[in-house]
Amino acid sequence: MEGLARAWVEVLESLVVAAGEPGAGGLTPSDVGLVEVTQGEIEVLESAYPGLVDVLPLSPLQEGLHFHTVYGGESDAPDLYAIQLVFDLEGDFDATAMRAAARTLLERRPNLRAAFVHQESGRPVQVIPASAEVPWQDVDLTGYDEADREAEAARVLDEDRARRFDPAAPPLLRFTAIRLGDRRHRLVLTNHHLLWDGWSVPIAVRELFELYAHRGDGFALPEPPQFRDHLEWLSRQDRAAAGTAWREALAGLDEPTLLAPAGSGDLPTTPERHSVRLSEELTATLHAWARSRGLTVNTLLQGAWALLLARLTGRDDVVFGATVSGRPADLPGAEGMVGLFSNTLPVRLVLDPAEPLADLLARLQDEQAGLMEHQHVGLSEVTASTGLGELFDTLLVFENYPLDPGVLDLPGTGLRAVDARVRDAAHYPLSLAVVPGTRLELRFDHRPDAFTAAGTELLGARLRGLLELIVTEPGRPVGRVGVITAEETDRLRTEWDSTTRDVRFDVFPELFQAQAARTPDATAVVYDETEGPSTDLTYAELDERANHLAHLLIARNIGPESVVGLLLPRSIDQVVAVLAVSKAGGAFLPIDPEYPAERIAYVIGDARPALLLVDRDTAHRLPEIGTGTAALVLGGDIAPERPGHSPTDADRHAPLTLDSPAYVIYTSGSTGNPKGVLVTHRGVANLAGSQIERFAVHEGSRILQFASPSFDAAFSELCLALLSGSALVLAPADRLLPGRSLTELTHRRRVTHATIPPAALAALDEDGLPPGMVLTVAGEACSPTLVERWSRDRRMINAYGPTETTVCATMSDPLSADGSPSVPPIGRAVWNTRVYVLDGALGLVAPGVAGELYVSGVGLARGYVGRAGLTGSRFVADPYGPAGSRMYRTGDVVRLLADGQVEFVGRADDQVKIRGFRVEPGEVSAVVAGCAGVAQAAVVV
Ligand code: AMP
Ligand code: MG
Repeated sequence: MEGLARAWVEVLESLVVAAGEPGAGGLTPSDVGLVEVTQGEIEVLESAYPGLVDVLPLSPLQEGLHFHTVYGGESDAPDLYAIQLVFDLEGDFDATAMRAAARTLLERRPNLRAAFVHQESGRPVQVIPASAEVPWQDVDLTGYDEADREAEAARVLDEDRARRFDPAAPPLLRFTAIRLGDRRHRLVLTNHHLLWDGWSVPIAVRELFELYAHRGDGFALPEPPQFRDHLEWLSRQDRAAAGTAWREALAGLDEPTLLAPAGSGDLPTTPERHSVRLSEELTATLHAWARSRGLTVNTLLQGAWALLLARLTGRDDVVFGATVSGRPADLPGAEGMVGLFSNTLPVRLVLDPAEPLADLLARLQDEQAGLMEHQHVGLSEVTASTGLGELFDTLLVFENYPLDPGVLDLPGTGLRAVDARVRDAAHYPLSLAVVPGTRLELRFDHRPDAFTAAGTELLGARLRGLLELIVTEPGRPVGRVGVITAEETDRLRTEWDSTTRDVRFDVFPELFQAQAARTPDATAVVYDETEGPSTDLTYAELDERANHLAHLLIARNIGPESVVGLLLPRSIDQVVAVLAVSKAGGAFLPIDPEYPAERIAYVIGDARPALLLVDRDTAHRLPEIGTGTAALVLGGDIAPERPGHSPTDADRHAPLTLDSPAYVIYTSGSTGNPKGVLVTHRGVANLAGSQIERFAVHEGSRILQFASPSFDAAFSELCLALLSGSALVLAPADRLLPGRSLTELTHRRRVTHATIPPAALAALDEDGLPPGMVLTVAGEACSPTLVERWSRDRRMINAYGPTETTVCATMSDPLSADGSPSVPPIGRAVWNTRVYVLDGALGLVAPGVAGELYVSGVGLARGYVGRAGLTGSRFVADPYGPAGSRMYRTGDVVRLLADGQVEFVGRADDQVKIRGFRVEPGEVSAVVAGCAGVAQAAVVV
């Protein structure tokens, strides 16, 4: 039997050689129809490939692949274009018959014998030799223990795959037959991608096993259609027109769409797989829905994938790769050819938020249909026109060539394929194969260095959600399509609700008075005199002094809803003034006396305070400011004759409520003028409570008053001290300059808590602040370097908040110096506050994706003084909160981290922070443009 088979092979071999015998005198240029070659060139090729039968051009795809094979990658790296087909066979496997079948296959399909070489001109050609010996390796593993056998088989496969093909040494395919048992074999067919594509696999495999069934006798099979005809077809195509079509399709694309995190490796690796199988019901619905609208399921998937990419990258102009079969409809026999047809080309989709989903899909299908006849050009050619380099890192393939059961069925062979699989390198970080069936399969192959298994699973869930949405709500505008899952929504809701805290909401003066009653003899304020000892006041003293002034203010007609300007530097008088105005029921308006007179005059003119409180120094500025507002000069206990008790509503002109204004703070306005933010009492107890807890403040703590009194941060420092029974440490501005003076001050006054903006912190020496203290950074983004430097010996917190949300909206967990290069998070919402990360249509953005930060909760300001329109556009209805609730649109771009903290990404507008000052470049340019002789102005930081 053995001998007989060998004899057969010998006969076949002689036949093959006979068939491939070159004609007398060899090939001439006229025999070579598809490439222009000279007789000299033919002779050079013939000396390398004696008896060659044809010289063919490369298809554009082969050109690209050949280029990468020859010039890309290390020569000792595994072959990225080697594809392994692995069959587990049961039955009596006859290696000799299979070798014969392989020979015949190559005989019938000359392009499978091709050698890929460069001519002297540099132009690559494929040379078809008369015959080619198919490399064959037999491996017998039956001697191994059952346990070791599989591992050994895997090793053989890896070793085989690592062996690089030399494109000039045909054939670019080889076999390995592994004997695992008497009736168990693993047949491995490894080929270079230059030879064939995925759609060719079932054709080649079926033919191979049919030939096997006939012991290699090709006469039993019909003549196969030839890949050469495709090359001939290609030569007739208009490459220039295709180039134009692709240029137009990609015009205006200004950025690639990259889903993998930056920095993940870009070398192809072995992918990991995650499959999502849609239910039969959803599969049927998708098919029916698509059919009813004249759409393909492929279009549905492409549209859904584009939407998903858009939502996960925050772009509305997205592009991804799609693998097309590339078999021309007008090429007879194309469906039966074995060769490299398939092509990966970009699918670009520009989203219009107003467009209904169904229209989007119809448009996508039209756009793609228009490109169909141009699919024969290579990706590198298409990409070159954009000037962007790599356009995408995800790939979608609508697979209708799978190794289906039909391929596993091997009639007449006496064999049964119990398994068949393809091993291929992942050329993109993420590929999605859509495998049709009664249950549509979404098969993700992801590079483990770019995507986690859980991340990929989530992608699958989101994609399924989008498909469901398309068929249930095809009229939904694209702008209102989100991708977060029900599970994520639940988690977000839990997070929102988790900030609920039972707080004793009360107006600020009541909160202070309650504290003063608890700790009357504790030090409330410490003023660091330049010379000599400090001036200290106890809670009782401070309260009494503030009460005297409050009763005086009431007598001057100050009460709820009236505004009192404080033109005061950091001082005990300033603290007394804040308390007194509040006790009278009024709102204080802090004004930095260092500001230019013009700016102060503007603020006074805009907020129209009923009264100004000044000291002896700042009083001198009044004439320059030129305001007609009445002013009261402070200095120590100026109204000792007034009552010493805390005013109540009985004393006040009107009841003081939680919704009465507490203070007004001016910030830069984008339209040219600063705007006043009017903040009520409602958020004060909440702010103080949240921060006292997070900063671990207690009686005996000493809180530095660092911020300029014109910032709300100064009020929060005041609350931190005076609503906790600890002391507020005050000093003149020059004592707070980052450097020696600040270091001395904090050490001498034993400061335990300070909030210092990153810019100031960066100017401090390493040991410039007492170790063990609680250090808060706020006001602007903090660098990882600062965290590294300052968090080691201190509890360090990153606090974030716009003035419009009562100072602080989020605080980080204590930061740690873990060497992480990423920016510290701004943390979680403070008590009774929610943070939302939303897209342009106020939809929830998926965790991890950048969106705009909105804040809702008790801290929201009433709005902007005298600016109803602006107030309405920044304080909007909260779609996720109780009916009637509002949220504030911060203009900050953030993303939600996996641990629930928020990370600051940047601004959605031009606003900048300069040493903690919020500056709208629009305000600056409006002023500059308003100057005589200025026609246009641009502002850069
Ligand atoms: P303001 O109203 O002056 O407090 O300014 C608020 C703005 O400052 C925010 O909208 C942010 O743009 C920025 N900001 C405040 N705190 C932080 C922080 N911790 N990290 C990054 N940006 C911040
Ligand atoms: Mg602030």
